[in-house]
Amino acid sequence: MRCDVLIVGGAAMGSATAYYLKRLDPAVSVAVLERDSTYARSSTVLSDGNVRVQFNLEENIRISQFAMEVLATFADDMETSSYRPEVGARHQGNLFLTDAVDRADALAGMELQQALGCEVGWLEASEIANSWPMFDGPRHVGGTFGPRDGSIDPSAVLRGYRQRAGAMGVEFIEADVAALIRDGDAVAGVRLVSGEEMSASIVVNCAGAWSPTLLSAIGVDIPVLPIMRSVFVVASHLEWEGDLPSVFVPSGVYVLPERDGTFLIAWSQPDDPVGFDFTVRRSRFYDMIWPELVEHLPAFDQLDIVGSWAGLYAVNTFDGNAILGEWPEVRGLHVCTGFSGHGFQQCHAVGRYLAELILERDHALDLSRLGTQRIVDGNPLHENAGRLI
Ligand SMILES: Cc1cc2nc3c(=O)[nH]c(=O)nc-3n(C[C@H](O)[C@H](O)[C@H](O)COP(=O)(O)OP(=O)(O)OC[C@H]3O[C@@H](n4cnc5c(N)ncnc54)[C@H](O)[C@@H]3O)c2cc1C
Repeated sequence: MRCDVLIVGGAAMGSATAYYLKRLDPAVSVAVLERDSTYARSSTVLSDGNVRVQFNLEENIRISQFAMEVLATFADDMETSSYRPEVGARHQGNLFLTDAVDRADALAGMELQQALGCEVGWLEASEIANSWPMFDGPRHVGGTFGPRDGSIDPSAVLRGYRQRAGAMGVEFIEADVAALIRDGDAVAGVRLVSGEEMSASIVVNCAGAWSPTLLSAIGVDIPVLPIMRSVFVVASHLEWEGDLPSVFVPSGVYVLPERDGTFLIAWSQPDDPVGFDFTVRRSRFYDMIWPELVEHLPAFDQLDIVGSWAGLYAVNTFDGNAILGEWPEVRGLHVCTGFSGHGFQQCHAVGRYLAELILERDHALDLSRLGTQRIVDGNPLHENAGRLI
């Protein structure tokens, strides 16, 4: 089989890229190779679905602004005869608690977000305590609050792009890619585990945390590791009225309120397991995450774990940000990974950007600073403090 563009991996990034390719050029032939159409282990469906403008890299802020724009009309725009993707948007707001050390950085980030038109403001510690007493604590001096930040159902977004792209003529094939095929300084296609070969002069690697393995086998080494992130679902004795924001303490532990009154709690740690491991270790919650949380938010001293799951971050160990676009030494090979903890919300802007790049169109949003060349050149592009959320 031959087509214009082959996409390896058909979750958020692969499906969104396929959709934007077809939207920009209905004549381009696109096939998406996804080895598991249930997506049981794809990071997209295992993500928390948080979308926020609170970044301090201009590209990441603009990417999220575009996400919010797209998501506002997603169900209408992506509806097909068989599926209407209701994304269940909740704008409960994200509150990033800040200690005295981080205050200047937090304010600088907020000023950039405001300058770019984002609704974000500073709350003093006393205002936080008055509005949400359970988020009172001894360590923070205040926090930045983005009332439009919130949660989206990742499965609905993935299915929306997949169904719509399929209706526009993208071929989704259940197939396990064994290897990318390189012919000198160009990509030539892929070989499947079944032994079948598929050729294309453009291959987009959207295989998430599995991307680096495929790339290194053809001599492309990127600084991305599959790292397990566990999420704990907890019930508490706390009582409140109205909506609670999602809260991030300065060290990165986060508490996301769910509709049913439970909270999702997680924390990225330097010694998180590297590899394709999906085993939740409750000891990490009891020994590390919970004590850190209570240190900041004492009201969370009584919790019961009522559920948990684990997924993989594709962690860019170089600078924590996406790596996008054609690899300098392999013509036609496009990289799309390294999203670390914030890739779900980026699928819209990234899918559009890659489609523009492949079809040689002008960019609606220039993401070239997130390109592959910075990896080759050794020029990192960090978010504030390099903190991974
Ligand atoms: C616990 C957790 C919480 C998160 N929370 C958030 C959040 O709140 N907000 C946010 O923005 N981001 C979040 N993320 C990050 C986000 O989920 C990812 O960055 C994003 O979903 C990446 O999408 P992707 O399409 O690149 O990868 P994936 O969703 O992992 O998709 C890759 C696909 O490729 C397929 N594949 C792999 N290898 C092959 C092969 N050889 N052949 C064929 N198919 C293959 C896989 O089956 C998979 O479906 C979270 C991640 C985790 C793990």
